[in-house]
Amino acid sequence: MSADLLRALRAIAGEPHVLTGTDAAPYLTDWRKVATGRALAVVRPGSTGQVRDVVRACVAAGAPVVPQGGNTGQVAGATPDASGRSVVVQLGRMNRVRSIDVENDTLVAEAGCVLQQVQQAAHAAGRLFPLSLGAEGTCQIGGNLATNAGGTQVLRYGNARELALGLEVVTAEGEVWNGLRALRKDNTGYDLRDLYIGSEGTLGIITAAALKLFPLPVAQRTALAATGSIARAVALLARARAMLGAELTAFELMSAVALRLVPAHFPQQRLPLPAQAPWYVLMETSDTESEARAGARFDALLAAALEAGEIDDAALAQSVAQSNAFWHLRESITLAVAAEGKCAKHDISMPTSRLGEFVTATDAALQANFPGVRSATFGHLGDGNLHYNILQPAGQRADEFAAAQERLSALVHERVAAAGGSISAEQGIGGLRTADLERFEDPVKLALLRRVKQALDPLGLMNPGKVLA
Ligand code: FAD
Repeated sequence: MSADLLRALRAIAGEPHVLTGTDAAPYLTDWRKVATGRALAVVRPGSTGQVRDVVRACVAAGAPVVPQGGNTGQVAGATPDASGRSVVVQLGRMNRVRSIDVENDTLVAEAGCVLQQVQQAAHAAGRLFPLSLGAEGTCQIGGNLATNAGGTQVLRYGNARELALGLEVVTAEGEVWNGLRALRKDNTGYDLRDLYIGSEGTLGIITAAALKLFPLPVAQRTALAATGSIARAVALLARARAMLGAELTAFELMSAVALRLVPAHFPQQRLPLPAQAPWYVLMETSDTESEARAGARFDALLAAALEAGEIDDAALAQSVAQSNAFWHLRESITLAVAAEGKCAKHDISMPTSRLGEFVTATDAALQANFPGVRSATFGHLGDGNLHYNILQPAGQRADEFAAAQERLSALVHERVAAAGGSISAEQGIGGLRTADLERFEDPVKLALLRRVKQALDPLGLMNPGKVLA
């Protein structure tokens, strides 16, 4: 049976695009290297029709289908299980920007377009596609939509869901839903688009998307500011919102521990401030009028924040290159954390007003229960979203830390739930957080999610074991 399926897949996608054995290996381990699976094959279809035919062949053979984009996900959602029966459908060959409509401010891209490629296509047409995240040189727009990715511009432009107007999807049963209408208003029935977005490959395969574009900013200002506490950073956020309104496009928080890991692992990167304060904020404003206006309004904000004691010091980027260097520091934290050793990662959100107290109390509870762990927290404070990363104690054996990790994460997530927060703000559930979803989610919601899954994937072949265990 599996030989028949392999033959069918080769006939559909072409022999060179059906990978097995060592050729398939790079696609079978997740980005964090916490999960490795096996697969009958990794297929790289080149068109929507080929994706449809691959799904139909898998349905006929009863083989699970695992959609995969850039494989940068943080929750092992694109990794097959250990059975070896799955077919990984890797979308990388579907990488055409199909059209740009500047007047309508929209762009249609195939799912396998790398995010940076979409940003560049928009820029070349004099427009902005604002989704932006550290993995943008590798992750794909299909993966971004499947995970409802967040990133650094959510504060101003919303997450991936808010940036998509329409989708083309190959359903779990191998039909093509053409929902690529680039409309800002369309109240025709239940919103299937929003159901597929964020479904992490468990309901169907996104093959293309109609995306929203925006005006390019005329001027930007970026500053890295030192602050004494999360409470002060939250006060600064309120001030920045009040003084800059929609011009405030990013507001990122980093602990000194997280920030210092970057030059420690990548010595070519320098900190523009001595990292003596406990917390740092990376702020950016985007002005659509003029350089002079951007500069005056940002300077006024920094002066008021210094005066109010919300920040102790700030480095203002003097050029685009310097601004890029500040962002490079921020975006290198994930890699620096990975290089530092074992880490228990938590992607949490809660009302910003509760974050300061949560971090102080949870840091203390972790020290009491797991002495020596180090909290390398950073994230999108403007969205109430922190990557609450707990590093193994210096010198501890990796297996000792791994043995404690389940208890440690339970402690963190119980506190998140008690604070009215979410145990997955932007990265999704994947294969790593299914038990937490089960434990912390509302039971009525869970029952409805199961019915949705049953309705759209009646055979249970789309990315089994992900989101709902
Ligand atoms: P993959 O990892 O390949 O897949 C992710 C999930 O989507 C899987 O469940 C997969 O089955 C499904 N999937 C993929 N493509 C499709 C498709 N075409 N149709 C249906 N399902 C599909 N995430 C954020 O939200 N914000 C951040 O700021 C952020 N920063 C990051 C920084 C770094 C350095 C790294 C490594 C990751 C970061 N991430 C961030 C996580 C990751 O980049 C995002 O989750 C991204 O959206 C995943 O895209 P991908 O193409 O790599 O998807």
